[in-house]
Amino acid sequence: MERLVILGGGESGAGTAILGKQKGYEVFVSDKGEIKDKYKDVLTHFGIDWEEGGHSEEKILNADLVMKSPGIPDKVPMVQKLIANSIPVVSEIEFAARYTKATIIGITGSNGKTTTTMLVHHILKQAGYNVGMAGNIGDSFAKMVAEYSYDFYVLEISSFQLDGISKFKPHIGILTNITPDHLDRYEYDFKKYIASKFRIAMNQKEEDYFIYDADDEVISNYLKEHPIKAKTLPFSLEKEGLQGTYLKDKHFVIKTEQGTMEITSNSLALEGRHNLKNTMAAITAAKLVGIRKEAIRDSIQNFQGAAHRLEKVLKIHHVQYINDSKATNVNATYYALDSMSTPTVWIVGGVDKGNDYKVLMPLVREKVKAIICLGMDNSKLRHAFGNAVDIFVETYAMSEAIKVAYKIAERGDTVLLSPACASFDLFKNYEDRGNQFKEAIKNL
Ligand code: ADP
Repeated sequence: MERLVILGGGESGAGTAILGKQKGYEVFVSDKGEIKDKYKDVLTHFGIDWEEGGHSEEKILNADLVMKSPGIPDKVPMVQKLIANSIPVVSEIEFAARYTKATIIGITGSNGKTTTTMLVHHILKQAGYNVGMAGNIGDSFAKMVAEYSYDFYVLEISSFQLDGISKFKPHIGILTNITPDHLDRYEYDFKKYIASKFRIAMNQKEEDYFIYDADDEVISNYLKEHPIKAKTLPFSLEKEGLQGTYLKDKHFVIKTEQGTMEITSNSLALEGRHNLKNTMAAITAAKLVGIRKEAIRDSIQNFQGAAHRLEKVLKIHHVQYINDSKATNVNATYYALDSMSTPTVWIVGGVDKGNDYKVLMPLVREKVKAIICLGMDNSKLRHAFGNAVDIFVETYAMSEAIKVAYKIAERGDTVLLSPACASFDLFKNYEDRGNQFKEAIKNL
């Protein structure tokens, strides 16, 4: 019996354990920290051996194969030892993909993964396909492979998952964009992070497809120097390509080898320029799969966006409140501000991951009437924008931020929570921050 050791007992670890057990491996799960009760229950239920609070080397170094959770960096001593002992260390998607023949649509990028993944899944599902959605979103891919038999999978894939692949390939790969993020895991080398994202195309063959944002210079420049085998299908708001997807006279034009399709861009469910891009990526994939134009059109009009991403919460006294708590970097906030069409009271701040706020300045001058900081340390924001707006307030709790916003905002304005920062100083995570925002508004 081959021995599968799993480092990390979270969603992907527990899912891999279930699948591994089903496929006849002797499975052992080891977590340096604590394993959540719900995963312990799952492991116990399936009769899988596990430990927490440390790694027992003798039970790990005898592995034939190791699955490492995406949260664990390569540099930790246990992983280094495995590598030194030539024991293969893979990620969950690499492991799970070995056990399904489903067609895989894999989506990666710095921003827009979840939105695009949900939209592709929505279009396929509405068109009647037998399709599952997994990856960083909801249940793990491995668990789904163990429990269902879908014909298609739409997978949200992080760069950490891609770092641990050797053979994994999506039939359709989507790269939404690349901006600096998670650089702490890439030795602060942007080039390494870029290369990691492009691993999504690494094993693709001529019969596969690679859909990407042609307006993103980081992506186009990389492609010039590192051609890939798959057929490339760019999407763009700026150029009209020979093949790929672009906008013309309020229509999306999708050109593939199979022909051209035009779909109206009116009445889209998702707002903002970034969502035009996400929509272009999703409909290109949908056309490749063979979905009819009417079905695609209906789906992009009736899609319910994901929570915490430019989510419209409530209108109170003609002031619209929008929750964009998932905007944890400057680029995401850029698109949020860009999509504002009214004077905006902007709630921003949290844990700064080395942000450079300069790119936001033109948008702030044009659209923002007041800035409400919400973070333990707001000095960088004060320095960047203190003089750019008339009203600049520092707050330290969501309820306080909302009270101030309520006072400042006038009929026709928008109150936007788009923090450009991580949430860990005042909140558990971005969901907690977004939920507190919604709660505070309901309590006004
Ligand atoms: P991810 O899963 O990659 O984090 P999400 O779909 O959850 O992406 O969106 C994260 C944040 O980025 C949200 O604030 C959202 O409004 C913004 N966003 C979504 N799509 C894009 C895009 N294509 N470019 C820039 N920002 C985007």
